[in-house]
Amino acid sequence: MSDTRFDFHDRTAIITGAGSGIGAAIARELGASGAHVIISDMDASSAEAIAAEITQAGGRADACVADVADAAAVEKLVDFAVEKGGALHMAVNNAGIGGPSAPLGEYPLDGWRKVIDVNLNGVFYGMRYQIPAMRAGGGGAIVNIGSILSSVGFANASAYVAAKHAVAGMTKTAAMEHAGDGIRINAVGPAFIDTPLLSKNLDASVIEQLAGLHPVGRLGTAEEVSALVCFLLSKRASFITGSYHLVDGAYTAR
Ligand code: NAP
Repeated sequence: MSDTRFDFHDRTAIITGAGSGIGAAIARELGASGAHVIISDMDASSAEAIAAEITQAGGRADACVADVADAAAVEKLVDFAVEKGGALHMAVNNAGIGGPSAPLGEYPLDGWRKVIDVNLNGVFYGMRYQIPAMRAGGGGAIVNIGSILSSVGFANASAYVAAKHAVAGMTKTAAMEHAGDGIRINAVGPAFIDTPLLSKNLDASVIEQLAGLHPVGRLGTAEEVSALVCFLLSKRASFITGSYHLVDGAYTAR
């Protein structure tokens, strides 16, 4: 097992969108820290590949295909995690898409619905079924992946910005409602991170421009986001709930 500050032995975690990027980095770190990791993604082959990587490194992982925009699939994912791990202790609602790039006055209606379905409804469905499972097991911790765009705007991305702002608000409300159940719920706001979400959708010149928007002068890495998420999931964050935490190279500090 790798050198790690966290001990997640005997704890089961769901990570959605864990076949790629930030979700895969979180899954690897939780797996290396002893958690039984349920790797969920829409894409079976990428989920199975990350699960295999974790088990080959000596960890515990199972893959489970689920579209987070499908409430019934998310309910089954939670049941699967409880069946495999005995209880659900941690969840990271990470799956997300970028969506169309267009000003609001021209924004495609189907693109709007798709982004809201995945980036907002997907997080709601996740918490909707994770919370009762955690309550049944005596508590837990949830991290929802927002964005810097949970607190500031970005031209041509109204659906994404709306969904990510809503994730921050929903996180705070759910945390207040379930603090008494021993469930901590936080949101994380990464700036632009070097993952396939960017490389698959944007030209290298646009990515370079985005890097320049961060005072640190570069994009973040998925591992830098994972470090914050794992801290928030850990017992060391026992008084931290209902808040939104940036990992943004000073992007929003200006
Ligand atoms: P990524 O590399 O594209 O990974 C996202 C994963 O989620 C992919 O495996 C994707 O599958 C999967 N996915 C997409 N729709 C899904 C659905 N409906 N149900 C289940 N899985 C689904 O993206 P990432 O950069 O790691 O992003 C992860 C999260 O971080 C997202 O919520 C994103 O909004 C947020 N974030 C990213 C950045 C950034 O700059 N990268 C910045 C701030 C916040 P496919 O590949 O098959 O689509």
